[in-house]
Amino acid sequence: YDDRDGKIWMDGKLVEWRDANVHILTHAMHYASSVFEGERCYEGKIFKSRQHSERLKVSANLIDFDIPYTVDEIEAAKRAALDANGLTDAYVRPVAWRGSGEDMGVAAAKNPVHLAVAVWEWGAYYGDAKMKGAKLDIAKWKRPSPETAPSQAKAAGLYMIATMSKHAAEAKGCSDALMFDYRGYVAECTGANLFFVKDGEVHTPTPDSFLNGLTRQTVIQMLTEKGIKVNERHIMPEELEGFEQAWLTGSAAEVTPINQIGDYNFEVGALAKDIAMDYEKLVRA
Ligand code: PMP
Repeated sequence: YDDRDGKIWMDGKLVEWRDANVHILTHAMHYASSVFEGERCYEGKIFKSRQHSERLKVSANLIDFDIPYTVDEIEAAKRAALDANGLTDAYVRPVAWRGSGEDMGVAAAKNPVHLAVAVWEWGAYYGDAKMKGAKLDIAKWKRPSPETAPSQAKAAGLYMIATMSKHAAEAKGCSDALMFDYRGYVAECTGANLFFVKDGEVHTPTPDSFLNGLTRQTVIQMLTEKGIKVNERHIMPEELEGFEQAWLTGSAAEVTPINQIGDYNFEVGALAKDIAMDYEKLVRA
């Protein structure tokens, strides 16, 4: 993906896509001092753009560094990247990281902090599962306790177990993996949050060991406005069997119905489809 035409916004300048490189002694590469965002631009407008930029800065603070750009400057950088590539419908990926310093130790308080924004066209995150429902594996890796890692940060280090879980899932022909948390509760997928339906009510795990996604928050609000009760609570794995419908939410994933988790099957039902359609409308409104 690195050797192609296009422009990437990097540390205040638009650079050629193939020249947007970092040095091998970048602290982030060795010690995961990196945070990022995943956003979608629809018809020229990034959905919840400002909230994403704000979360990027919060994520950096949570892993102990400051991004040397204001939210307004990050907003302008995203706009510049979209314009430079002539894109109105695109995935937007800001990333901030610690560069190299005087030595290569763990401590990096004086290392420079960098920011880049790349944008590219990215279709449905789960491909045709968007229509027919995603099949999920159950990951062997558990989301860590918030005392073990800053689980509200969208930080690269938290994706090590996500990548391993997703690879294991894909090897079994699944789209993604459901992860339990350190206590054994149902948590989320490797890049998306989870919702379940039973007896006309919605149940979604309490985000106390994983990212409280912006799409998750949007969908909770949409359901509440429809008069549907949303129960945010701890969900036990044995409850999966009793749920009728399920779906995933995420900026990249949007709202994607689930038709299977491990050995359990789910109907791609009316509510899952309605919410997927309503979200589609909302992001383009
Ligand atoms: N959990 C993880 C691990 C994610 O990577 C994402 C995608 N950012 C989400 C949840 C969903 O978050 P959002 O709706 O803010 O994109």
